[in-house]
Amino acid sequence: MDAASGQGNGTRSEPPSSQFQKIWRANLVCPAEGPPIRGGAVLTRGARVEAVGPAEEIYPAGRPVSDIDFGAAVLIPGLVNAHTHIELSGLEIDPSTMGEWIVRLVREVREWPPHLFLSSSRLGVSASLEAGVTCVGDISASGQSRRILSDMGMRGVIFREVLGLVPGDADSIVADSIFEKRATQPGEGGGGALRTGMSPHAPYTASLALYRAVIGAAGAKGWPTATHLAESPEESRFLDDGDGPFAEVHKALDSPAEGFEPPGLSPVRYLSEGEVLGGIDLAVHCNQTGEEEWALLSRAGAAVCLCPRSAAFFGHPFADAAGMRRAGVRLCIGTDSRASSPSLSVLEEAAALWEADPELTAEALLEICTANGAKALGFAGEGAGVITPGGTADLAVVEPPPGEPAELDRIFRPGASVRTTISGGIIRYERGG
Ligand SMILES: [Zn+2]
Repeated sequence: MDAASGQGNGTRSEPPSSQFQKIWRANLVCPAEGPPIRGGAVLTRGARVEAVGPAEEIYPAGRPVSDIDFGAAVLIPGLVNAHTHIELSGLEIDPSTMGEWIVRLVREVREWPPHLFLSSSRLGVSASLEAGVTCVGDISASGQSRRILSDMGMRGVIFREVLGLVPGDADSIVADSIFEKRATQPGEGGGGALRTGMSPHAPYTASLALYRAVIGAAGAKGWPTATHLAESPEESRFLDDGDGPFAEVHKALDSPAEGFEPPGLSPVRYLSEGEVLGGIDLAVHCNQTGEEEWALLSRAGAAVCLCPRSAAFFGHPFADAAGMRRAGVRLCIGTDSRASSPSLSVLEEAAALWEADPELTAEALLEICTANGAKALGFAGEGAGVITPGGTADLAVVEPPPGEPAELDRIFRPGASVRTTISGGIIRYERGG
């Protein structure tokens, strides 16, 4: 292999590697935008895609610096895990009721020193790259996952999580969170591979005043917002009458709840009537929803991130994904944290969604795992989540189960495996490598 000399365009402002052309081929290339391409290839230059199409049509005139043929594999955009908690990747908590699980999790994590959040984050990013994930919607309470995500070449939004049910505390909680972030992460810009967002945790732990304060602050900074919403029957019960297992959680954790008045509304209606739903970009879970809630979510412009295996872990009834699709709700997918999910694999999560919504086509499922998540996180402008000329060169190579052909539907089956993960035109993971 030789260096791509002779490809210079006369400027020296970028490092030489940004001029290198590489070609990546596979029996099937699925750009998640346009039809699958048999005998396809992706031509990249530095961190960007230059062309995608049949290999013989896009082969460059000058010899590329590398030419890799993955053979019997499916080349797709890097997968987008739109909801996870990277910093909790080293934490496993046995299945129990959600209330007991929350109490155990909070008690454990309260004791963690910063280095444990860092090592746990490293586990999470490694596992994500092994699963073909190149972009995450990461919820962080500690702020420690950012360094690891950055070092390992991951793209995404790190949502700073805030909690507080006492309405009078809302402004100071948001001000403290923003100040803390600025103090610990100086020099962070808004247009990079890692961006900041804010997340009021959920309607049972965040007051409407806190939602409003977050939406105001995030709006002023152009940051996206996410929240856990309508996840469990326990949440619906707490909003209905202020009682039940989540009232017990607040007592067990000594979390103040003075001033919280149960609205007697479903979680989605509560946020809608509180005039905060329109400020939420990403609503996570939405298991406890029906047609009325789907119409509200759709009108508010919120994307819904489904986490089917986390719902199974807790024994929650899972969202009616097919109903949501028919109602025009924009869907993406997330694994949630390792504390409630068997892995950080988006493809395995997607297999569970397909089981729940068998009428989905493989193409639509791929979009839920890629383009839709990138859009919901605000990365569509960079061409993340699709393979498109000028877009970011984030790719995953997935081999079908042994002995099966390289067809798109096979990458969601047990036995399929990620062979290579590429972000910004650089190989970040290679199986056995
Ligand atoms: Zn979560």
